Amino acid sequence: MSKACAIIVAGGKGKRMGTDIAKQYINIGGKPILYYAIKAFVDCSSIDEVVLVTQKDEIQYCKNEIIEKFNLPVKKIVEAGTERQDSVYNGLKSIQDCDIVLIHDAARPFVSRDIIENGIIYAKEFGGAAPGVTPKDTIKIKSDDGFSLSTPNRSTLFAVQTPQCFRYDDIRQCHEKIKRNNISVTDDTMAFELYHGKVFLYEGSYKNIKITTPEDLILAENFVKEV
Ligand code: C5P
Repeated sequence: MSKACAIIVAGGKGKRMGTDIAKQYINIGGKPILYYAIKAFVDCSSIDEVVLVTQKDEIQYCKNEIIEKFNLPVKKIVEAGTERQDSVYNGLKSIQDCDIVLIHDAARPFVSRDIIENGIIYAKEFGGAAPGVTPKDTIKIKSDDGFSLSTPNRSTLFAVQTPQCFRYDDIRQCHEKIKRNNISVTDDTMAFELYHGKVFLYEGSYKNIKITTPEDLILAENFVKEV
């Protein structure tokens, strides 16, 4: 039987939120955002192991105030890196005997069981898969001096979310290569595209938001009430 592991990256500072604490520790519905992200994966029977990645000086806090406090079965907490991609790489290096890995942003607490399970199925079939949605806005390519250069056809655009799901050996090799070649990526699909191949894009959810700016917290409080 194949083994599926989730890496939850929670090593960011979340500067766009403008709060003293990193956004993954802000409470919504009385619990930290990070709690919901972890809970979604530990509650999913298709996930065998959950690894948390966070800043060195936040490891003890996560252990006491999230994992033990809410009795979450997370055994491994790994130190984050300078950039998101370094945190992912540290998470990947900490895992053994894994067939499929799902890499998820701690700032997305509303990931559904369907998104997780479909990600595993598609990653097994295609090697790499990521959920997402069609952007609601018209997207422009903008010039440095602030004018519109062109308007891509909206039906061809896809706003990609997490968890991004891959065959473990392949994404680990891609991350090793971007590190060796000093390449910056904004997500893991980009690393996979550069060194391995196409990523299958499947239906995510407009609720699977990445909490980034203060107005996202208002939405999040409402989503929590619905659960
Ligand atoms: O800043 P942004 O929202 O794009 O970060 C996406 C995710 O990557 C967040 O969950 C954040 O905690 C994580 N991250 C990380 N290590 C870093 C930077 C970001 O784990 N050095």
